[in-house]
Amino acid sequence: MEELGQKLSFDAKRAMVNELRRSFEEGKTMGYEWRVAQLKAILRMMDEREADFMAALHSDLSKPYFESFLHEISLIRASCSLFLKQLKHWMKPVKVLAAITTYPSTAHIVSEPLGVVLVISTWNYPFMLSLEPVIGAIAAGNAVVLKPSEVAPATSAMFAKVFPEYVDNSCIRVVEGAIHETTALLKQRWDKIFYTGNSRVAKSIMTAAAKNLTPVILELGGKSPVVVDPNCDLKIVAKRIVVGKWGCNNGQACVCPDYIITTKSFAPRLVDALKSTLEGFYGKDPQQSKDLSRIVNSKHFARLTRLLDEDRVSGNVVHGGQRDEKQLFIAPTIVLNAPLDSPIMTEEIFGPLLPITTVDKVEDSFSVIKSRPKPLSAYLFTKNKKLEEKFVMTISAGGILINDTTLQVANPDLPFGGVGESGFGSYHGKFSFDAFSHKKGVLSRGFGGETPARYPPYTPWKQALLRNLINGSIITLILVLLGWPMA
Ligand code: NAD
Repeated sequence: MEELGQKLSFDAKRAMVNELRRSFEEGKTMGYEWRVAQLKAILRMMDEREADFMAALHSDLSKPYFESFLHEISLIRASCSLFLKQLKHWMKPVKVLAAITTYPSTAHIVSEPLGVVLVISTWNYPFMLSLEPVIGAIAAGNAVVLKPSEVAPATSAMFAKVFPEYVDNSCIRVVEGAIHETTALLKQRWDKIFYTGNSRVAKSIMTAAAKNLTPVILELGGKSPVVVDPNCDLKIVAKRIVVGKWGCNNGQACVCPDYIITTKSFAPRLVDALKSTLEGFYGKDPQQSKDLSRIVNSKHFARLTRLLDEDRVSGNVVHGGQRDEKQLFIAPTIVLNAPLDSPIMTEEIFGPLLPITTVDKVEDSFSVIKSRPKPLSAYLFTKNKKLEEKFVMTISAGGILINDTTLQVANPDLPFGGVGESGFGSYHGKFSFDAFSHKKGVLSRGFGGETPARYPPYTPWKQALLRNLINGSIITLILVLLGWPMA
């Protein structure tokens, strides 16, 4: 067998999946104790190797330590703690009402693990977005293979090196690699594939999964809009937009504000407030700030500068725009009124550029959002409760947050996932447990309570009785409960 957590040949991958499947079939992952032991091992790994992971995140993205701690390490710690607290309860069969049609009987829903699952992760939160689904998969009792993103190579290498030192390698493995390795992994048979990344690759994932009828969860992105109603507290709005955009990996987060919609008359005040907040947070020369991540690589740097340098966009930059290719740095940049069909307004930005689109009335923002693919997140700032209600009821999005940005991901009682082109399936907290479980309905009967009317010959008398029963006739029900023979 090749080394644990390394790049594997195709045959070695098949052997690895077979080995994991054997462990699963032997029931190794089923018990509460095994699941808890793995979750505790992950917590211990974080206690003992936090600094190494933080250094890897810094090497991959120049991610500020505060952000790595808050958005990656702390979220996973909180997640492990929640699972350790709730798992016993979540694993218990859930009793449901027995139907009169099956009287007498009891009914339960049993959460059973799916088998061997594959988690394919992405680069922007390479620690959190790898472990969050893995924790759910383990807690639900599955064997799991994690494929971290090659675009964050230091974090990927840390997982490959460190994870096997803590968790049970007969059931949990890390495989590093890029397209070639992922394609080979996708040729194996999985019981679920959990993919985080872009929608183009998601189509290949689904195609590969379809060969074995493997269910998938796709955590994708898109353009998350922020509607700003002039009826708001502008100072707070500016701080919450800036921290949700540039304070989240410098705009490289799936839930970051992608574009703002506000009214024509309010836009100048909003731009001024954003500019002064940016200066307050990152100084006059943001390149000197230690609190901004860098662009992940030169490919993404080129993609972002292409969006900015487009003819119809470059003249509309009202703030920022400075860049330094060697340092992979692009300053926080605001663009006012880029044409709605320009790439910056049609492609997901996933970086430090923030276009603002204007409309006559704030309500007009709804049709702008609805004319586009359903976003992963939609944000609204307003003091107007009626507008808030209308937004929640009419805008379809993975999730909605009113009067703030990005914080919805921090509530484990809310499902996190997309809709339409932003993906499908959800996770976090109990939703993760459910995402990696099969909900098995179990109906249990004894040998009493025979109802002769269900057996042939189907006489008109039996049919009439059953029809009455099914239509809810109380008298018939009482007669049947009293053992009235419906022969
Ligand atoms: P990426 O390049 O890291 O790719 C994601 C994974 O897919 C990697 O593990 C990679 O190895 C694999 N991959 C890449 N090309 C492949 C191919 N041709 N065949 C098989 N596997 C392949 O990440 P990315 O796609 O640049 O991620 C950015 C996107 O992810 C954005 O759209 C963002 O919005 C989205 N995203 C979504 C979430 C979420 O939770 N919904 C979180 C983060 C990022």
